[in-house]
Parts: sequence; structure tokens; C-alpha cells
Amino acid sequence: MDYTAKLEEALQRLHNEGRYRTFIDIERKRGQYPHATWKRPDGSEQPVTVWCGNDYLGMGQNPVVIDAMKEAVDATGAGSGGTRNISGTTVYHKRLEAELADLHGKESALVFSSAYIANDATLSTLPTLFPGLIIYSDELNHASMIEGIRRNGGAKRIFRHNDLDHLRELLAADDPAAPKLIAFESVYSMDGDFGPIKEICDLADEFNALTYLDEVHAVGMYGPRGGGVAERDGLMDRLDIINGTLGKAFGVFGGYIAASEKMCDAVRSYAPGFIFTTSIPPAVAAGAAASIAFLKGEGGVKLREAHQTQANILKLRLKGLGLPITDNGSHIVPLIVGDPKHTKLMSDMMLENYGIYVQPVNYPTVPRGTERLRFTPSPVHGPNEMDHLIKALDALWSHCALNRAEMAG
Ligand SMILES: *Cc1c(COP(=O)(O)O)cnc(C)c1O
Repeated sequence: MDYTAKLEEALQRLHNEGRYRTFIDIERKRGQYPHATWKRPDGSEQPVTVWCGNDYLGMGQNPVVIDAMKEAVDATGAGSGGTRNISGTTVYHKRLEAELADLHGKESALVFSSAYIANDATLSTLPTLFPGLIIYSDELNHASMIEGIRRNGGAKRIFRHNDLDHLRELLAADDPAAPKLIAFESVYSMDGDFGPIKEICDLADEFNALTYLDEVHAVGMYGPRGGGVAERDGLMDRLDIINGTLGKAFGVFGGYIAASEKMCDAVRSYAPGFIFTTSIPPAVAAGAAASIAFLKGEGGVKLREAHQTQANILKLRLKGLGLPITDNGSHIVPLIVGDPKHTKLMSDMMLENYGIYVQPVNYPTVPRGTERLRFTPSPVHGPNEMDHLIKALDALWSHCALNRAEMAG
């Protein structure tokens, strides 16, 4: 067996399909984000503006967060030194979980290494807790949910994206006595569209199913206290399990679920992905807790308003140029280029010629023919950055001879 040749084959497959990923090496500068330095492969450097990050509110450089992290490092050191069960539960972890439970109006919360792990560990464990569980999963759910559902060995049904009739059909076709769970998202990250939370909760009531909502692209950004779309719509109490990240709008790292005390206790006790791994560093927990607390308050309200304003300005200006953006009313602004070659070319030229960093998004992350540039405007992108982006896109769109929409009258 020539192991190296096998690796080369596997990598070549990705090259052949145009799916080989290259990472752009950037160094963020505290206090200056979205400005950063791009370190080219040849060692040279260029200043860039990041337009595709998930630090949606700039909390990664908020002094409140950084101070909390520094204080915790000074007080307690670097790592937690253990799993949650064996010496790795600290006052910082407890405080963070209390902050999260309060954010979502739940009795309890559990912190994981990431939201990916939280989804995977929870969804793969639920059939152990509810024997015979059937999981109904939106077809566009994130890879971490798909992976957890796939691995759990239980029954699954995939419903067409946001299609309530299809979901009802699937629910109705199964044994009314079987335990059921509906897994979906509040904001889908690639199109920026919303899941029909209320309607899905209604169906869950009708068919006596549990609900599992991934609010990763909404926590910190929606709702009066940053509790997500379910908070905004007054629906948090209708969801059995809410999943979120501490790494995107909260600007730090880690993931969690919030649920009833019994649910959290059971997942805590049974999920290998929670049990057999070192808990997050206390400083990370401290930073995340500070970020959540900050975003619950007046500062958060202002940032959320500024965030939506920035997204609306960008959408309006791109529409004004006739560029085909998808506007689903959220903060995510996808510009559909429509083929992988041009998407990559646009992204490369933006970076090289304009110092604008926006990563191309290709198949299989999005369907073929909808390859796109996904912009994430934030309150830290100023008017100059916005002007520069608009000029660059206008020029490059013409340069690549891409189609524009008919100007609306
Ligand atoms: C990014 C993402 C996750 C994973 O979050 P991490 O904390 O980065 O692991 C989960 N769900 C969705 C929808 C995501 O986009």
C-alpha cells in the first residue's frame, strides 16, 4: 500500500473538481478590525479589509471582552486542566452557563468546545435518551447537525428547505406514538433566509415533537437582548433546545445548548462529545460571558441597530448597481456570481487589486450555479470601506462582463 500516493489521489480529486481550498493567511489588528494584514505565500504583506468574517459585531476586539479575558488569565492561568467531570469545571464555566440560560430564558445551558461539537454531540446522543427517536431535519441544515444525525443510528427524515407541507407530510406518515424531534435553523448562513420558527413549533405541538433550533447566525444579533430570532419573535419558550456559538457575534470561541434542566443534565451525562474532552479555557469562558452580558444591554441594542443599518445600506447600494444579491431580510448579503471560475476570479482580483477580502463560496457549500461572494457587513465597517467595496464591485463586475439585473423603476 502506497499511503502517500493515496493522499495525493484524494487531493487531486479536489483539484480536479475545483474544490481544493486555499486559506488566506491574515493577521487581525486589535482595535482596527475589519482592517487586517494579508500575509502572502511569498512572505510579502498587504493591508486588507475583511468583508467575510463572522465576528459580526466586532466583539472580538471589544475592550470589555478583552479585559475579562486578561483578568481571567492573570487570575487563573491558561487552560482549564481537565474535562468538566475531572477538575475542569470552574467558576468561569458556571458563570457562562448561567449567562446563557438567562439569555435564552431556559433553566439551564451546557457549554461545548464549539457549536459544531454542541450540535454533533447533542443530536447524536438524543436517540439514547429517547429510544426510537425520529429526527426531522431541514435539508439545508449545517454540516454539524447532519453529522450528528447521521452518526446517531436513529431514524431520520429530511424535509425540503423551509417546506412546512413537506414536514407535515413526513410527520403524519410516522407512528403517532414515536418520539420525534424537528431540527432546523433560525438564519441559514449561505442565503441569509429565516426558518419559519412559529409554524414549525405549531407543527411540533400538533405532532407532539421536540424542537431543536440552531441560532448560530442570530445569537447576539437579533432580539432585544441578543437572544436570537426566537427572542425577537417571542418564541423562545416554545423551543426545547436552542443551539448557539460563542465564536461568531460573541467574538470569542465555543458553543452551547440551552434547554430545560433535565435535558441539559441528560446530555451532560450521556454525550461523549461533552464528557471526554478538556473544557474550554477559563479565560475564553470569561470573555464569552462578558460579551453576552454586554450585548444584553444598551451597548448591544446600539450595535444590533448599527449592524442592520450597515446590511441595509450595502444591500441598497448593490441593488442600485443592478448586482444580483439575495435579500432575505437578514444581515447576510450573498452576491450570486453563478459559476465557480468567475467567483474565484472576482475574489482574487478584489484581494490583489483592491485589498478587499471576501472568500468565494462554491459547491458543495452552495448548489452549483449559485456560486457566490458572501458579504458580512458590520458596525465596524465605516463609510469609506463601504464606498471602496462598492467601487471595486462595480468595476470588477463590468470587467468580468457579468450580467446585471434590470434596474427597478
Ligand atoms: C458556524 C456554524 C456552526 C458551528 O459553530 P462553531 O462554534 O464555529 O463550531 C453551527 N451551525 C451553523 C449554522 C454554523 O454556521
